[in-house]
Amino acid sequence: MATTTSSLSRRGFVQILGAGAAAAALRPQLSAALRLTEAPAAASGVVRLSSNENPYGPSPAAFDAMRKAFDLAWRYPDEAGDALVADLAKLHGVAEDQILLGAGSGQILKLAAAAFTGAGKPLVMAEPTFEAIGRYAQVAGAEVVRVPLTTNHHHDLARMMPAGAGLVYVCNPNNPTASLTPKADVRAFLDRVPASTRVLVDEAYFHYVESGDYESVLPQIKDRPNLVVARTFSKVYGMAGLRCGYAVAQAATIERLIEQTVWDSVNIMALVAARASLGDAGHVERSRRLNRETRAYVVSGLEATGYRVIPSETNFLMADLRRDVGPVIESLQERGVEVGRRFPAMPNHLRVTIGTRPQMEAFLAALKRVV
Ligand code: PMP
Repeated sequence: MATTTSSLSRRGFVQILGAGAAAAALRPQLSAALRLTEAPAAASGVVRLSSNENPYGPSPAAFDAMRKAFDLAWRYPDEAGDALVADLAKLHGVAEDQILLGAGSGQILKLAAAAFTGAGKPLVMAEPTFEAIGRYAQVAGAEVVRVPLTTNHHHDLARMMPAGAGLVYVCNPNNPTASLTPKADVRAFLDRVPASTRVLVDEAYFHYVESGDYESVLPQIKDRPNLVVARTFSKVYGMAGLRCGYAVAQAATIERLIEQTVWDSVNIMALVAARASLGDAGHVERSRRLNRETRAYVVSGLEATGYRVIPSETNFLMADLRRDVGPVIESLQERGVEVGRRFPAMPNHLRVTIGTRPQMEAFLAALKRVV
């Protein structure tokens, strides 16, 4: 009797084929997801513009690497992690003990809050900014000091230096405002902040920035023992669902973060995909270009309707709808368009991720109907 794979238990299937062949047979057909102009999310019918993901997905090289890694799924990810750390160290011109991988940069934020904040060691952060680290610090027993952005939506760094702070979180460019804090301000702040205060600069959206007024602080790590930089593969590299990010800092600071880690928390698929992504500069460039072009289209659509948009240096933007955006978010959701959450410090501003051109056409059409 002919036996189909679907009638077999997984164990029987592996016994008949052998582990390698079974893995090969189980590999998904991923190539359809590689077309850069197509949104992988489109299949669900929902226009997802809520989480600042890259709608063009991971690099084809990342898919290839993951297909090959199916055969390695049974192993702990030590070697794959070491290989990625070595590549990142080379990329950033630092030693391997200056890098720590995390399951997304969100995990790095959690480790930093655990290591550097707590009772008597407040966290200082902007308002509004990416909120996660505030929650992590609160759980660690720390006071959280929130300093409003300036009217230009920069971090008000001169006011973010209270005595005794354990950690200052600087999100540059900032989520949700898509704005950056000028490099001169950041340098002046880093020069003045006490050595006992750690500074975590979150550069999740680094790749999208085009302004000459911006710089990554990564090259300053060699001179600044209290500086930590967080980066992620979730944004321009299109790997949000895979979970890989990292911290760069001086080795003694990385040691402090390592004390808080969960061992082996980054899975092997994410590691090989991240490594392959680093080798595909073309994918990064295409994602940036498509983002830039589509963002310009959305900005002009919003401005033509009379809405002001905060100049964006990222793959999302914030528009002033001159009304509370809570009901707008709900009405868009009912029409199948998911946008960013409401930020209480800026209740009239809507945050929208830059999706593909068809997604943004759907967004503008739905917004017109809703408002
Ligand atoms: N930092 C910023 C500024 C973010 O916007 C996000 C996610 N939206 C993260 C960190 C966390 O991302 P991930 O854990 O996927 O790297």
